[in-house]
Amino acid sequence: MIRRLDLRDAQRGPSGRLDSRSLRNAVPRASIGVEQALEAVRPICEQVRVDGLNALIDLTERFDGVRLEHVRVPHAALGRALESLDAEVTAALQESIARARRVHAAQRRSDHTTQVVPGGTVTERWVPVGRVGLYVPGGLAVYPSSVVMNVVPAQEAGVESIAVTSPAQKDNPPGFEGLPHPTILAACALLGVDEVYAVGGAQAVAMFAYGARDADDELWACEPVDVVTGPGNVYVAAAKRLLQGLIGIDSEAGPTEIAILADDTADPVHVAADLISQAEHDPLAASVLVTDSEALADAVDAELARQVAATKHVERVTTALSGPQSATVLVTDVEDGLAVVDAYAAEHLEIQTADADAVAARVRNAGAVFVGAWSPVSLGDYCAGSNHVLPTGGCAIHSSGLSVQSFLRGIHVVNYDRAALQEVAHHVLALSAAEDLPAHGQAVSARFRDQRD
Ligand code: NAD
Repeated sequence: MIRRLDLRDAQRGPSGRLDSRSLRNAVPRASIGVEQALEAVRPICEQVRVDGLNALIDLTERFDGVRLEHVRVPHAALGRALESLDAEVTAALQESIARARRVHAAQRRSDHTTQVVPGGTVTERWVPVGRVGLYVPGGLAVYPSSVVMNVVPAQEAGVESIAVTSPAQKDNPPGFEGLPHPTILAACALLGVDEVYAVGGAQAVAMFAYGARDADDELWACEPVDVVTGPGNVYVAAAKRLLQGLIGIDSEAGPTEIAILADDTADPVHVAADLISQAEHDPLAASVLVTDSEALADAVDAELARQVAATKHVERVTTALSGPQSATVLVTDVEDGLAVVDAYAAEHLEIQTADADAVAARVRNAGAVFVGAWSPVSLGDYCAGSNHVLPTGGCAIHSSGLSVQSFLRGIHVVNYDRAALQEVAHHVLALSAAEDLPAHGQAVSARFRDQRD
């Protein structure tokens, strides 16, 4: 079911260790990545830019099979969704919110002033963006947990205007026809968010980026936002890449990935269960086991055969596990395994080896790391307190998961007095001359004209 990739004889650098740059081309990746999806989402985003609300209605009918009556969810539906939410799910969401809030509150930044010289200071002010659009997936599965993961850091950052969007569901219960799933609406209500839209996919990202006007081009059906965050499938990730610049984004948080670095101390039952848990997100989801133990690889294969047959979303899981993006990668030892997982830069990385803490401390590239036998990725999906909106497709090499920081901008405030400027003026003049930008120097010397006369 899951292919094997033997990297024990892969190219090595002068140190005798696997070469991490050439490994980047060797690690498994999906056949449809963000690059390929860009072609599909370009016309969708353009349609929203030109036709606004009408485009949202047409595209939702085309992709989600729902003719929208309300693009924005009526306020009363949010309260009704919370009232009818199952008590156990309400309690679980409350716990998830409380844990996420604890972790994200600790991420808040304070302004900091540095006295560079007497009379000259630079203050770094952390200012929240004004308005954000938060994407909550709802295609193959619905994700109330992603409401929590998006909204909590935005609130902790102090963002004033928060809008959520999630695809309209065609099989909703009575009273919620043509709206996102009621559990998503209930999660919004629990968090006090009342601006919610019933739009999904690339068109939702475009709605947030361009805004959408009504049919008469007079009123905003949705006002544009400054930053769009949140996870989604490859089309959502592609729209974020396409519109980045017009909007800020968190990271390309596309189809889920799990990599597990394991040795012969790992339990094959747990390893197989964790690989399956992420494969059930999407046929494009990636499950990768990296191990130096052929015995473990064989045992996990046997467990996968047993557990997949019994899982609910057997077709989706089988497609994901047998796709080119999934593999068992054989390495010589844990040291080489670390080189492979660093080259892969997984969204989620589990360390299931002897001395897992020490191995985890050496990981350089991953969206989030889950250490030891008792920290499965699905804990992080819901209730660890960590954020589950994480970079995919190798983006963890340069990007971080969603955090309070994703919603803040650092503004340098420069405040020098006369003496402090005068003291450094000759350096400014020298550098402006070196760059052949003399007007820069003039802007300083003009302030000290009396002395030059
Ligand atoms: P989704 O809401 O992301 O996507 C559904 C939308 O995709 C639809 O509304 C539709 O507009 C659009 N779409 C579907 N097929 C299309 C096509 N052929 N062309 C253009 N647009 C199309 O929901 P989903 O599909 O269930 O995907 C959720 C994704 O989120 C999964 O891939 C999951 O792995 C991922 N996820 C990622 C993270 C992360 O942090 N990286 C976290 C949670 C979930």
